[in-house]
Amino acid sequence: MFHQMRFSLFALLLLLCLWACKNAPKGGTRPLVVTTTAMIRDGLEPLIKDYAEIQVLMGPGSDPHSYRPVPGDLSALENAQAVVFNGFYLEGNMTSMLESPHLQAFSVRLSDALAPQAAIPADGYHYDPHFWFDPILWMQCMFQAVDQLAPLLRIPQDTLHLRKERLKKFCLGLDQEVMCRIETIPVRRRVLLTVHDAFAYFGRRYGLEVKSLQGVSTTAEFGVFEVQDMVDYVVKQSIPAVFTETGQSRRSMEAVVRGCAAQGHQLIQGATLYADAPGPEGSLADTWSSMLQKNALHLAESLASNP
Ligand SMILES: [Zn+2]
Repeated sequence: MFHQMRFSLFALLLLLCLWACKNAPKGGTRPLVVTTTAMIRDGLEPLIKDYAEIQVLMGPGSDPHSYRPVPGDLSALENAQAVVFNGFYLEGNMTSMLESPHLQAFSVRLSDALAPQAAIPADGYHYDPHFWFDPILWMQCMFQAVDQLAPLLRIPQDTLHLRKERLKKFCLGLDQEVMCRIETIPVRRRVLLTVHDAFAYFGRRYGLEVKSLQGVSTTAEFGVFEVQDMVDYVVKQSIPAVFTETGQSRRSMEAVVRGCAAQGHQLIQGATLYADAPGPEGSLADTWSSMLQKNALHLAESLASNP
């Protein structure tokens, strides 16, 4: 009798357990980590996967400078155990929300990880927020972020150490690959001219001079003066190509191309570069690392091979 009761109790517990497993929410009880950009997700994922669910607020092709939060973002922030954002006002409209003392989630601002000499000033008031274009700097930011997140996510120290070593190896390899690609461009042609100045960190890391029509924010205006200034520069330096970024009209650079043609200098528009977000699935630039690789390839093709 006693054995029968014990067996029935065991069967009941087993059934309850199976029911609970079947009805558990997808992803189990892992904490939710919200990142504002996909570049942050791609950097963090190798370090925190299996210990957290990751949700990105800004999807492929989003412009973080002008992004406006949607209702789904607010509930994601409410449900999150941690929020990781870029800082240096990259998330323009969302900055006050992300830095609000009312935000319940543990928050990590990546720009805090940058040493003063590592941050590039954008103007008298702000620093340039596009530091994901320096993979070594980005890796250091990810390490600092995960050190803060590890206790919350209960990542064991040995796992963390192993994962950091793997990410370091990956980032060093990526850095070397981009460096080799840029080195195929003759030194005098290592000039990156774009509409929106997202590439200062990239330029500093890989020895490219960087100049733009618009400045560091896509919300800034540019006009005749900026166009003429770039035309004069291109003609004087005999630069073969200029670039636009995804999400921006290639027409922005047409005035520069026409201005150069009027002075007898043939200027081409290189392939579109990925600046503030990776591309859509299937673009071969749909992650942080592949957008760096693709940009380096486009730059080398346009600047190394044209007359
Ligand atoms: Zn930008």
